[in-house]
Amino acid sequence: MPERLIPIQGDITKLQVEAIVNAANNSLLGGGGVDGAIHRAAGSELLQECRQLNGCATGEAKITKGYKLPAKWVIHTVGPVWKGGNQGEDNLLASCYLHSLALAEEHNIKTIAFPAISTGVYGFPIERATKIAVTQVNKFLQSHNSPKQVLFVCFSQDAYLMYQQLLKDLLKS
Ligand code: ADP
Repeated sequence: MPERLIPIQGDITKLQVEAIVNAANNSLLGGGGVDGAIHRAAGSELLQECRQLNGCATGEAKITKGYKLPAKWVIHTVGPVWKGGNQGEDNLLASCYLHSLALAEEHNIKTIAFPAISTGVYGFPIERATKIAVTQVNKFLQSHNSPKQVLFVCFSQDAYLMYQQLLKDLLKS
């Protein structure tokens, strides 16, 4: 099981996986951070397709093609804005991972890469977000054969080390 969960450090727009996940906003019309990087790398056709989707609720996910990205698909999910932790943020973040994985399975996607959703501009504390990410993905994979492999893509070394540690802890338990 744990070898299906892989932390890596790098730029998600460069990855040769079947699907990458975008930490989008409710409009799905692009933004800063990883969202901006994905739209820049995919080209303007991505925005055109996103315009047809009528946005996305927080905690939900929608899928588009990847256009100029190496990835064939982009799964756009909208993480919660951190408001102190008592506004359902944990459940909404968990829901982002689960809905993205369910969409991936539906499309027969075998390899998928997630960024650290909500941990940038949306301000979710990184350790708390990482625990939710690894726990939810692990839980999903235990009861589903697909996707085969899930990459956690960390932009910073701090985030990478945290994913490594939490995945190791998960392995022990
Ligand atoms: P959110 O609005 O959900 O917080 P951000 O894009 O601000 O989204 O940040 C989410 C995470 O994505 C942050 O941890 C940030 O460091 C990371 N990130 C930003 N650009 C990239 C990229 N090109 N590849 C992978 N991760 C990235």
